[in-house]
Amino acid sequence: MIPESVKAVVEGVGALAAAGLAAGGFAYAAMSPQSRLFGTTLVAPQRRGQIALTFDDGPNPAWTPQLLDLLARHRVKATFFMIGKYAGEEPYLTRYIAEAGHVIGNHTWSHPNLALTSPKKVKEELKRTKQMLEHITGMPVPFFRPPYGGRRPDVLNAALDLGMTPVLWNAMTHDWKDRSAESIAGRLGDRVDALGRRGLAANVVLHDGGSQAQGTDRGPSVEAAKLLLDRYIGVRRFVTLDAWV
Ligand SMILES: [Zn+2]
Repeated sequence: MIPESVKAVVEGVGALAAAGLAAGGFAYAAMSPQSRLFGTTLVAPQRRGQIALTFDDGPNPAWTPQLLDLLARHRVKATFFMIGKYAGEEPYLTRYIAEAGHVIGNHTWSHPNLALTSPKKVKEELKRTKQMLEHITGMPVPFFRPPYGGRRPDVLNAALDLGMTPVLWNAMTHDWKDRSAESIAGRLGDRVDALGRRGLAANVVLHDGGSQAQGTDRGPSVEAAKLLLDRYIGVRRFVTLDAWV
């Protein structure tokens, strides 16, 4: 049986490969040079009007709680791609995020560019983070997002082997360096609208932590999230990534 978390990836490949998977399991995809399975990632489906807010590089004790308050006020759930090392430093915050109904994803242990990382170290980064997150939350971690989008077939393969769907995005701006929330939210909103005109859902990235240091100012990103909620509440539907698999 194909795990639920892999189905979305399989759907992206097509019926033929899916039939092969059903018949031969992962061996088929792993051994076939023509298989696109391990090159396929979840971005966003054809679902006009849906927005998935995703927050990378946390949890961060200064900024994530503000975001959680904001999301709770609007009764919106989001997806948090956490750095394993930070989750380990903030177990109560991590557990609180999961218990509040948000989805937690794996964003590696130390945020390397996995396209430049040895296969052995890639596996360690993913596995250690998965174990930490599952230990803290008591729940499976269904998604993985590679830092910087850096990936190779073996990176995606490692994620799938650990039961995680690889996820990229289709709406991002430089919120980690742009100091204007209006500018960040404006750019993301333009992108959400453009995707919507093509009938596509928006997979939006903002950052609640700093990949290199926890002390990073994420005020503009939190404020941009507020502006996006103000703009789209009642107009679009906010979903977590598990709505798309
Ligand atoms: Zn990141």
